[in-house]
Amino acid sequence: MKITDIRLDQCILRKEDPNWRFALGANPTTEGVIVSIHSDEGLTGYGYGSATAHMGATRDGITNTIEKLTPIIKEHDPAAMSAIRTAIGNAVSGNNQAKAAIDNALFDLAAKTKKVPLHELFGGALRTEFPVLRILAIKQPEEMAEQAQKLFDEGYRYFKIKVHGEVDLDIARVAAIRKHLGENANLTVDANQAYSPKDAITAINGMAEYRLDLVEQPVAIDDYEGMKLVTNAVPVTVEADESAGSIEQVSTLVENQIVDAISLKVPKLGGLWNTLAAAKICKSGNVKYRFGAHVGSRLLNAPAMHLASTLPDIWYASEFGEFERLLDDPFEGIDVKNGVIELPDTIGASVSPIST
Ligand SMILES: [Mg+2]
Repeated sequence: MKITDIRLDQCILRKEDPNWRFALGANPTTEGVIVSIHSDEGLTGYGYGSATAHMGATRDGITNTIEKLTPIIKEHDPAAMSAIRTAIGNAVSGNNQAKAAIDNALFDLAAKTKKVPLHELFGGALRTEFPVLRILAIKQPEEMAEQAQKLFDEGYRYFKIKVHGEVDLDIARVAAIRKHLGENANLTVDANQAYSPKDAITAINGMAEYRLDLVEQPVAIDDYEGMKLVTNAVPVTVEADESAGSIEQVSTLVENQIVDAISLKVPKLGGLWNTLAAAKICKSGNVKYRFGAHVGSRLLNAPAMHLASTLPDIWYASEFGEFERLLDDPFEGIDVKNGVIELPDTIGASVSPIST
């Protein structure tokens, strides 16, 4: 089999709420790059490069990297994924989001060539349904509680409360949401690095009164010492997200028992293969893992779900439904119903371009 063409299309999705904000910024759109790899058998594999500036990946950066790698990829049979992975790794270091887009497109193409669902390339699905955790953007406590109630009424039971580093106001956010939703809601918090270690400990201990299952990335990305201090001082599971930005960083976090849990994301880890390895590293060190937010097209979420479906140890709800708050998605095939997303047993990554 030969690759006949590699095509890149820019993907800019509007947010339903243009004022959506988290501790590291605000943007009315979510951006990415769609990679289409065409084979001489008439099949096309699709991948999505997730532009996440706070993880060092801009849309132009992803585009330029994939353009540089295109001639190298084209030299190979697309089924030779190990050879391609090695060649592009030797050609460009880092740039995991661009590499993940290529990896996902190659996996989609490989599954389509074999006429199997993508999960079969990882040993087959153990589950086909995932409860979805939804993210609440930073707003005043009552506004966040109202948004949470709206999602609760749609069937969601898992929520992530974005906070901003103001201890009292952040505790008030958690309190308001717990009061509105009652005991049947499962609450988590994501600080996106907003706290000093001491403020994180004060805030999390204050929030724990309202029953929190998880606190994500309380302190700065490279403050491993501070992160470990927080992990050892609070009664809530502490999870690394930004700090777990590569498979090497996942290894360091696990080896040194810096956190209780790790948020796996296919883009930051550089593809499905590395994400599988990261999950195994977590398991081997008794660190919990789940899949964090894949914010972007359904094309970004579907391959991650295929891999997740084969992993027996995901400890908590994952975040595969953020496309529900984005407009203009050019892909279809998966949707959230009653707070649960189902993985269709269709060939490839289970999503396809909406025909226009
Ligand atoms: Mg996060």
